[in-house]
Amino acid sequence: KLFNELQDLKGNIRVYCRIRPFLPGETEKLSVVENISENRKLVIANPSKPGKDGKRSFKFNKVFGPDSTQGEVFSDIQPFVKSVVDGYNVCIFAYGQTGSGKTYTMTGPNGATEEEWGINYQALNLLFRVSQSRRKHVLYEVGVQMVEIYNEQVRDLLSSDGSPRKYPYFEQDRLTKWNMHPVISTSDVLDLMDTGFKNRAVSATALNSRSSRSHSIVTIHVRGKDLKTGTVLYGNLHLVDLAGSERVDRSEVTGDRLKEAQHINKSLSSLGDVIFALAQKSPHVPYRNSKLTQVLQSSLGTSFIFILKLQKPSPGGKAKTLMFVQLNPDATSYSETMSTLKFAERVS
Ligand code: ADP
Ligand code: MG
Repeated sequence: KLFNELQDLKGNIRVYCRIRPFLPGETEKLSVVENISENRKLVIANPSKPGKDGKRSFKFNKVFGPDSTQGEVFSDIQPFVKSVVDGYNVCIFAYGQTGSGKTYTMTGPNGATEEEWGINYQALNLLFRVSQSRRKHVLYEVGVQMVEIYNEQVRDLLSSDGSPRKYPYFEQDRLTKWNMHPVISTSDVLDLMDTGFKNRAVSATALNSRSSRSHSIVTIHVRGKDLKTGTVLYGNLHLVDLAGSERVDRSEVTGDRLKEAQHINKSLSSLGDVIFALAQKSPHVPYRNSKLTQVLQSSLGTSFIFILKLQKPSPGGKAKTLMFVQLNPDATSYSETMSTLKFAERVS
């Protein structure tokens, strides 16, 4: 069944849409989302162009409406997350303007209860539990890394002092244990996540909401050794909360803010290019154009399944990409909503 669901992935890329609800205090603005049919299609109406001409529809693998719960979202992606223990490399990311619910989907609200846990918590917990339940046959090691990419610099969010550091992760050795934290209990899961998100929050206050202008990446590495055959399988899961995709008016920002905006622009468009190339099955995939795509390379497109006994990677092509396109429900976000949807349309 899992195999079928994985095969079902068109071009190995699955695109979901999630619309966040109106928030308390938000005035009830005209919804741009006109109808959601069969949870696959979304019709967006241009608020300043009433009638048929102002309407456009977009197709997704699934649309999660404003009432969708964290549990519903996770139960849909659970098979993909689980496949990591079988040697698949999976990348799940959330794309959208600041305030569209990326962090809510990936992590959950502040002080989330277990029911409100975002994908990060649920995925790590699931992988940990699955690996435990199979421990009679397969010896698993689960490790976690958490980094932030800001202005093309990679910062470790799990280092004890949270200080910026040059990150040797991808260039030298993709399998390095560089600040990889082993997980041996569910409470380790929670502790690690909390440390990482606290470190991210610290920089947010210091640098004025930097979290919306950086990408955060949680990577879960799972290495399993079959006790009977001795075969070793390696899979990883990248969980990415991208920087806000909102366009910045070049005439209005200067200096650091402009530099930030340019870096974000470049990395998001590189990500789009990579996914587009993969969807087209293009022989050349431009991973090298940004730190973001370099870090994600192992789970975007051709993955490497490391048969550790051979000490050499063999191309597996067992990589799956899931994208959450996050939307605001209000009319004032119309133009950002359209540009988010166009990004999604190009890659799906
Ligand atoms: P982003 O990370 O894209 O900037 P957030 O995840 O911080 O956006 O969401 C913005 C606000 O909306 C937060 O207060 C968050 O708790 C709330 N929110 C987002 N998505 C949902 C949802 N599906 N259900 C309830 N509240 C949500
Ligand atoms: Mg956020």
